[in-house]
Amino acid sequence: MKHLHPTAALAGLLLAISSLSTLNATVAYATEPAAASEARAAVARPPKFVTAAEWGSDPAPIADDRRHTPTYVTLHHAGVLWTKDRDPVAFIRNMQSWGKRRPQIEQPPRNTFWPDLPYHFLVAPDGRIFEGRSLDYEPESNTKYDLAGHVGVELMGNFEEQRPSPAQVESAVRLVAWLLAEHELPLSAISTHGKVAGGQTSCPGRDFARYFDGEPAPFATWVDRVLRGEEPAIELGAPLDGGPTESITETTKKP
Ligand SMILES: [Zn+2]
Repeated sequence: MKHLHPTAALAGLLLAISSLSTLNATVAYATEPAAASEARAAVARPPKFVTAAEWGSDPAPIADDRRHTPTYVTLHHAGVLWTKDRDPVAFIRNMQSWGKRRPQIEQPPRNTFWPDLPYHFLVAPDGRIFEGRSLDYEPESNTKYDLAGHVGVELMGNFEEQRPSPAQVESAVRLVAWLLAEHELPLSAISTHGKVAGGQTSCPGRDFARYFDGEPAPFATWVDRVLRGEEPAIELGAPLDGGPTESITETTKKP
């Protein structure tokens, strides 16, 4: 059975495209030990932050049995090609309303009610960070893994087909640093959907997922600098062999 990524399922609904479910990654779960968390500076909430109230979030109540304690920060991509004519706020509002309508519009087992966005934060190509689901509740997924404890951070776009923008990666780094500081979590709490749901998804896409591999992983290195009160000094890699070459900020609608 294929497990569509939540946002990919939304796109399938909106665009009537059924080919977004290519899930072929085989990845091992991260096993790196917890990193020392000494020498942490105070980390401010990142700039370009848009609260749920500011973008007009309208969630349904979430059941008490979904309450959790943030323990991991798990990165995703939307899995939907982003074109520069799109409006991030409209995208998020559509995703939220679609989740609430799943019982009416989806077939089992995908017809479960999603009272709010499946993610806690969503990062736009221009670097804006939109607050999603309350951190008090576990996220949603169409893949199988224990959701409790995961803070879901989604970057808009499909990084199998386009490259994240520098502003988007920097906001993700600053957001994750802030979350680790606020919840007193180690660098080893950082993971990706592909790593926690091994073999079920290529999320967060090869041109972003690569920054979570290696020892130390580049993304964790950038986050660690922010935690120490330094600039993240992010250096994005050259395009991968056979990978996407176009930045998300350049993608236009294909005719
Ligand atoms: Zn994902």
